[in-house]
Amino acid sequence: MKTVADDRLPGRGGGAWVVKTGQRIKVTDVEGGAIGDFVSFNANDLNERFSQARTKANQGRLLLSVGNHLYTRDNNVLLTIVEDTYGEHDLQYGMCSAWVFENFKDKDYHGFDPAAMKVGGPLGVPPFGCYEVLQKALKDWPIRPENIPDPLNLFQTLEFDHSNATFKTVDGRSKPGDYITFEAKMDTLCALSACPSMGRPLHVTVFEP
Ligand SMILES: [Zn+2]
Repeated sequence: MKTVADDRLPGRGGGAWVVKTGQRIKVTDVEGGAIGDFVSFNANDLNERFSQARTKANQGRLLLSVGNHLYTRDNNVLLTIVEDTYGEHDLQYGMCSAWVFENFKDKDYHGFDPAAMKVGGPLGVPPFGCYEVLQKALKDWPIRPENIPDPLNLFQTLEFDHSNATFKTVDGRSKPGDYITFEAKMDTLCALSACPSMGRPLHVTVFEP
């Protein structure tokens, strides 16, 4: 195994990596209870990017785990999951953002702590979310913010209530050391935000198996 990249993202930090065909990217939840907003693009055509909808529809699945693929809208496979100790990564939500924290702070937005997130709050961070973290992580590539796709939300957990067609985020159940590994099926630009809503670190390695 040859390590290509080894990065520790602090809580509320982000990063981006080009994972070449056949290489793997592994994301580890260091402390447990983290969330990682993960997006991906065809590294050779940045207009082709991850599609939450095609990924669900093509596999008839609301949740992904080992053996499942991440598709683009053109139905090409970017990545395949080859290891996963969690198994219920959210594939419904978009990503948090300054807008979310500013507009939902007085509402029941389960999974976030609005009091902690506001300016001067206990976390001491300005209201920014994964959308802003990913824009910064991708600043070296010519990608307009609105073209950053809706993510696969690693270690984020949803509860579905089919009786009234609703879903909501619930507290993460990930344990320290939980991880997921993707194998690139094309040269893939991957970016990750250690979600500010949780503020917990993630460890990323890119390697040749
Ligand atoms: Zn987030």
